[in-house]
Amino acid sequence: MATSRTAIIAGNWKMNMGPQQASSFAREIIPALGRVIQHNPSIMSILCPPSISLASVHEVLEAMPTSGVELGAQNMYYEDKGAFTGEIAPGMVKELCTTVILGHSERRMYFCESDELVNKKTLAALAYGLRPIVCLGENSEQYDSGETQSVIKAQIQQSLAGLSDEQASQIVIAYEPIWAIGTGKAATAVGAGHVIHFIRHTYASIYGESAAQAIRILYGGSVTSANIGEFMVHPDIDGGLIGGASIKDDFVEIVRISA
Ligand code: PGA
Repeated sequence: MATSRTAIIAGNWKMNMGPQQASSFAREIIPALGRVIQHNPSIMSILCPPSISLASVHEVLEAMPTSGVELGAQNMYYEDKGAFTGEIAPGMVKELCTTVILGHSERRMYFCESDELVNKKTLAALAYGLRPIVCLGENSEQYDSGETQSVIKAQIQQSLAGLSDEQASQIVIAYEPIWAIGTGKAATAVGAGHVIHFIRHTYASIYGESAAQAIRILYGGSVTSANIGEFMVHPDIDGGLIGGASIKDDFVEIVRISA
């Protein structure tokens, strides 16, 4: 990756680890992650447990204030408060987290999240001083029929619409081809790098070259300690959004290799 951008390795725990299990896993990995981060200021690591486990992981982080490890939510709603049963508000996330994953393909697929909704959430996250990691990616049919770029372009135009100049350089994008998520069939570094280069180019055409050069663009989809090294040497890839491997000790190894 380019040296001017701090790399991010974020762990998306998905619907795994309730408060107790999350707390004991956090106590196990945070000291090890902290040792890597403290020696390598060019890398950040963000843990994203389920919302019910955020407080227990936050408590572990508070007990280890020098670790440098950050906390992120996997989703949130965009309204400030009110009658939205089952949702969590940006201000609630902000009490514990620096970051929020938005528009993950599983949210888009199973919970019918549209680009328009992802856009509202992105703007709300930024308004609350949260760092959104906005997920984009094509499915396998779109990939097979050569539609990747048109799909990604529409997702950028719609999910990331209406950012101010300042906000435009603050977001993080995760490119996650749906066919690579949880399948063990990761994209190649060259293939992912090519799409990420296209994302940066498209973003530049909307928000200008300097914002496009400032933002971090991560790759996600079957990343493990065995392949992260290949992704990290690509100049356009600024880190990874890790699913399955983030709830194993392998996550520490991924961060170590990326540093
Ligand atoms: P995976 O998931 O690493 O298990 O493929 C990545 C993600 O969904 O963010």
